[in-house]
Amino acid sequence: VSHHAVINPATGETIKTYPQISSDELEQVIATADEAHHGWSRNSSVDERAALLRKVGELHAERRDQLAAVIVREMGKPLDQALGEVDYAANIYRYYADNAQEFLKDEPITLLGGEGSAFMRSSSLGVLIGVMPWNFPYYQVARFAGPNLMTGNTIILKHASQCPESAAAIERIFHDAGFPAGAYTNVYADSEQVATVIADPRVQGVSLTGSEGAGAAVAEVAGRHLKKVVLELGGSDPFILLSTDDMAATVAAAVAGRLRNGGQACDAAKRFIVIDELYDEFTEKFTTAMLANSPSDPTVPGADYGPLSSLGAAEHLEEQVERAVAQGATLASTGKRSGTFYPATVLTDVTRDNDTYHEEFFGPVAFVYRAASEDEAVDLANDTPFGLGSYLFTTDPEQALRVADRIEAGMVFVNLVDAGGAELPFGGVKRSGFGRELGRFGANEFVNKKLIRIG
Ligand code: NAP
Repeated sequence: VSHHAVINPATGETIKTYPQISSDELEQVIATADEAHHGWSRNSSVDERAALLRKVGELHAERRDQLAAVIVREMGKPLDQALGEVDYAANIYRYYADNAQEFLKDEPITLLGGEGSAFMRSSSLGVLIGVMPWNFPYYQVARFAGPNLMTGNTIILKHASQCPESAAAIERIFHDAGFPAGAYTNVYADSEQVATVIADPRVQGVSLTGSEGAGAAVAEVAGRHLKKVVLELGGSDPFILLSTDDMAATVAAAVAGRLRNGGQACDAAKRFIVIDELYDEFTEKFTTAMLANSPSDPTVPGADYGPLSSLGAAEHLEEQVERAVAQGATLASTGKRSGTFYPATVLTDVTRDNDTYHEEFFGPVAFVYRAASEDEAVDLANDTPFGLGSYLFTTDPEQALRVADRIEAGMVFVNLVDAGGAELPFGGVKRSGFGRELGRFGANEFVNKKLIRIG
């Protein structure tokens, strides 16, 4: 039985199930992707590939409403956020189209001695497989497919099993934009088939965005077969408040940082670490502001947030919150879970021996911690297995840079949230994974930086 199905989390209705790919079909997909790399990729110019990506961006804009409606029913994203995500994905394709020449141009090297010249040329690697999560179905694919198709790699895409409809819509866009067969192929595959693809000698690398477990499983197979890996995994991002001259704006940023996408973002602010003298005021205002939000029908514009992505996800979050409280946390919340709809929740008094202290909470649940000093705030921020993003609020620019240097994370945002962009490299350290997506660095991951030395 295929587990690739659209199950509307707001209603529980199974809308459509998609058949899993057979081994024979999968073999054909790999062969076609490899042929596309040898034929089309190697014979197309950078400008030709950039033009195709530009068209992909345009098609996202043209199909904006349809694309947004798909993810509202697949994973419960509120309609306005879904539209915003489609726009963001379109921007990413445009960004790589606009910058293709710049990112792929030869880079000269100054020789220390000897005759002639030397330079680095950016060549494609070949077939790649991307394994993507459901939380931002279009954006996650864009940041993998955009730079790699620009470079001339070809792509096999295994999307999350709960978003087969958006997966198909994305594949159709690449086809309609004019990419040849094999440049981008969607597969409804299971984990074993993903392992088969990674192991195949025609495949050169794998990029996974998802949980630590999935990342470790994929990296293990990739390691055994010596394939390059990029991993974008979980996060438990700190939001550190050291000083502010506008508490209302800071509280609003904190709430937005936690509740975007119903709290189901790897780089959401999850742990709020507040300097002693601001702790009481912040906690009171933040709790009031968090609890003013509630989940509702994601198809109605203006929803604070929607249902969680699945019943299993909502039950898991509830179990984590119950365990946190059983081990001493203090809970503030507007009520109880109702199916997939989870109330906004704030937890305080979570001590280091509480076993949820080190866990990622993927939903509208915030932790607030008190820090006696800047040093203690940094220690608390870094006391996590993860190291994806971080948010730092202070009115002191020197302190901002001093603390930013000490935070163990791939990204530090100072005095703002929700500030990512196509040009800004995204990724983490520690158990949040390795490698970067977006920006120039995202264009460098799956590239043969080839030295050409001329005598
Ligand atoms: P997930 O269960 O790990 O799923 C992600 C993808 O990996 C899905 O396509 C899934 O397929 C696949 N997968 C799972 N186990 C696998 C295995 N053993 N081998 C190969 N593929 C496997 O993650 P999720 O629950 O959907 O997403 C939430 C997690 O992703 C959170 O931890 C979040 O922080 C993280 N995330 C990270 C980023 C980032 O950029 N760092 C962005 C978004 C989300 P199936 O759906 O078929 O199981």
